[in-house]
Amino acid sequence: MSIDLKSLTIKKAHEDLLAKKYTVLELVNTYLENIKKRDSEIHAYLEVFNDVSAQAKMAQEKIDSGKASILTGIPFAIKDNILIEGKIASASSKMLENYHATYDATVIKKLKDAGAIFLGRTNMDEFAMGGSTENSAFGVTKNPHDVARVAGGSSGGSAAALAMDGCLVALGTDTGGSVRQPASFCGVIGLKPTYGAISRHGLIAMGSSLDQAGPFTKTVGDMETVFDLLAGRDFMDATTISPDTYKKSSIKNSLTIGVPRHAMEKGIDAQVLSNFEESLVRLKKLGHTVVDMILPNIGYALPVYYVLMPAEVSSNLARFDGVKYGLHVDGKNSIEDYFASRAGGFGKETRRRILLGTYVLSSGYYDAYYNKANALRKTITKDFTNAFTKVDVILTPTTPTPAFKIGEKASDPLSMYLEDIFTVTANLTGMPAMSIPSGFAKEGSVSLPLGIQMTAPHGREDVLFALGKDFLGEK
Ligand code: GLN
Repeated sequence: MSIDLKSLTIKKAHEDLLAKKYTVLELVNTYLENIKKRDSEIHAYLEVFNDVSAQAKMAQEKIDSGKASILTGIPFAIKDNILIEGKIASASSKMLENYHATYDATVIKKLKDAGAIFLGRTNMDEFAMGGSTENSAFGVTKNPHDVARVAGGSSGGSAAALAMDGCLVALGTDTGGSVRQPASFCGVIGLKPTYGAISRHGLIAMGSSLDQAGPFTKTVGDMETVFDLLAGRDFMDATTISPDTYKKSSIKNSLTIGVPRHAMEKGIDAQVLSNFEESLVRLKKLGHTVVDMILPNIGYALPVYYVLMPAEVSSNLARFDGVKYGLHVDGKNSIEDYFASRAGGFGKETRRRILLGTYVLSSGYYDAYYNKANALRKTITKDFTNAFTKVDVILTPTTPTPAFKIGEKASDPLSMYLEDIFTVTANLTGMPAMSIPSGFAKEGSVSLPLGIQMTAPHGREDVLFALGKDFLGEK
């Protein structure tokens, strides 16, 4: 039988599998065939696993014996910085090209227990640093909507895999926007959960106080399903929180949506702005109230992020010394071994950030940069907390531009960093934020997806899901 992958959701696939309309094997084979057809051009996957049929068989047994959960047999794509025992986890770096994970990340363990299928591992910017997947050591991922353009990053492979119907759900990680930005570029939904909502155990760390795993889905209902499974305390990650850590009031039918217009005055693409205005009109028609609001220190968010993140990167990446993990290049003595291994293993952007981070953490500059940025991070978080006494959700575009051309920003790191202007705040404050598709920009004959980003207070993913469903007309 033929399965229409375009319209497939977790809920529908689950019902179909229970009703025996098709088997898990038929479902995964349909995806594998589509990957074969499309991925030689898109390059979303670094590897498609060779044990997918065996995984499907186990999932089918669960279904046949009445032990299925809603995710049993559901095909996932996994970003290459999330450990799956026995599989390579390279973080798209030469450093870890042949590194096999020795254990499952907590998110993977939870999905395995639920009977989910892992189709393969997806391309990304090296160690999750970047916004275009161009920093991968293994080639760029192309945008399924226009192959001359980037899919976004750093989780570009995961977003593209979903957008080309190369999986039904994908997992990524988000340190400064790496789930939401590629979701927006590829026309799918991406969530950065509340810091600590989902365990980081088994994720290759970038900036530990900012990192969160986040799903990509086609519907908000699917997002809720995956989030509910992945969320929760984990003994292996002391920063995790339980779902009832933050108080939850009931969700009103009519929400107050705050718009920090003052943050959208410069450098935003005209089509992004007009689509954003149309989205506000749509939200008002649905009965929500839209108000202007001020986030006094939001202008510092990007510089603060680009001080704190490299600082954490430089310390997290110190473990890749050519001895403990991955690539080893021989020098004349052990010091030379370190130099040769790190120079041979890390790409340009990774080295740039290690240098920046080492600089801001060095004794002469620690107070001037790192401590200042940390103080400002608290101030920015306070601004958001204050704002949420008056509004339920804060809305911005997800990105200042639609997907850009491959190569367009590659030689200008600053213009690349500016792409993160709306997304980094959620990582700095630890608040949850979700990007949902809001329409298209026209570039000649191609339509490029656009997204809006909603941010809610800590622990209020439920508000994002309610508003997201309303906006997209989901029941
Ligand atoms: N684009 C941002 C950066 O380059 C975000 C990365 C991420 O979220 N992993 O740092």
